[in-house]
Amino acid sequence: MDQIVDKGMFTNGPAVKELEAALEIFTGAKHCIAVGNATDALIIMLRAAGIGPGDEVIVPCYSFFATASCVDHVGARPVFSDIDPVTYSLNATDIEAKITKRTKAIMPVHLFTQLADMAAIREIADRHSLMVLEDSAEAISMFCEGKHAGLLGDAGVISFFPTKTLGAIGDGGLVLTNDGHIAAQARRLRIHGQDEHTPYIHHMAGYNSRMDDIQAAVLLVRFGFLQQEIARRAHLAACYDRGLSDLSQVRTPTIRERADAANSVYYVYLIEAERRDDLAAYLTRQGIGTEIYYPYPLHTQPCFAHLGYRPGDMPHAERAAERAIGLPMYPDLTEDQVDEVCRWIHQFYESGG
Ligand SMILES: *Cc1c(COP(=O)(O)O)cnc(C)c1O
Repeated sequence: MDQIVDKGMFTNGPAVKELEAALEIFTGAKHCIAVGNATDALIIMLRAAGIGPGDEVIVPCYSFFATASCVDHVGARPVFSDIDPVTYSLNATDIEAKITKRTKAIMPVHLFTQLADMAAIREIADRHSLMVLEDSAEAISMFCEGKHAGLLGDAGVISFFPTKTLGAIGDGGLVLTNDGHIAAQARRLRIHGQDEHTPYIHHMAGYNSRMDDIQAAVLLVRFGFLQQEIARRAHLAACYDRGLSDLSQVRTPTIRERADAANSVYYVYLIEAERRDDLAAYLTRQGIGTEIYYPYPLHTQPCFAHLGYRPGDMPHAERAAERAIGLPMYPDLTEDQVDEVCRWIHQFYESGG
């Protein structure tokens, strides 16, 4: 950080280039393009892939808001699909009914701990000549068949928001792809649609979405601890699993067995719980932080009312939105703290809250 301040190269400078190179080696991506945050990365990815007005993109209705807003931002229409109730990712069996003449891409999201069923999604996409663009914002270090998330379709993104598995001390994001054309367009779009060596010639009306070098420098250091921290998260998840296994009111996460050798990463530890909102309030009173991911499915958001969806359209997502709650999960958490959280959850159900 001192070097960056001394040199005065604050955005898209040497530390950003170093981070991109390190992530190209780690993920195996031919191209990593660092940007300001993963919401921008999604918008840039869609535009770089040629998605625009008149196009439809199939997205899950249970995700972070940016999964759907990015489609709207490029002038296309998000088409919502329900989730698999175990993995919380796009339910491959629901996708096909949503495909129309206007569909250009499917955007699976790898939510919480595990990858979407990419073999099934890719098979549908191939049969209908659709692109697969991944919202892999949460999926750093998730691989299947030896390929990193974001490289299982045409392009993907990663978020370095502070709470993510690899977090900066501010915002940061990444587009990753093996597609040279998407990469070239994304590199232009992040700096006003110009090529790096020919400024002031704008090939597209792009954005200002450079990554800060300070963030890149922090990420390069934290990257060295990533695998150790992921192992720690898995250990803490096992402690929660044990501590909560005897409670009939709680469903602990299920990692789907799969043929593609996908690994899981506990970005969050998400349970489904009876009387979820009362439990959250109770834990808050004990000084225990929780997070509701996500309280309202995207098809019920006011800004998407014009798309004509109704409550009841997406039963799996709507059920999850009423029951899901994330428990504390970060590498510095201790086993004793996990035990304490589990004890209070027992106490809540045994005492009737
Ligand atoms: C965090 C997240 C994003 C957005 O990332 P930012 O870097 O905060 O813009 C997008 N999609 C999903 C699924 C996320 O979890």
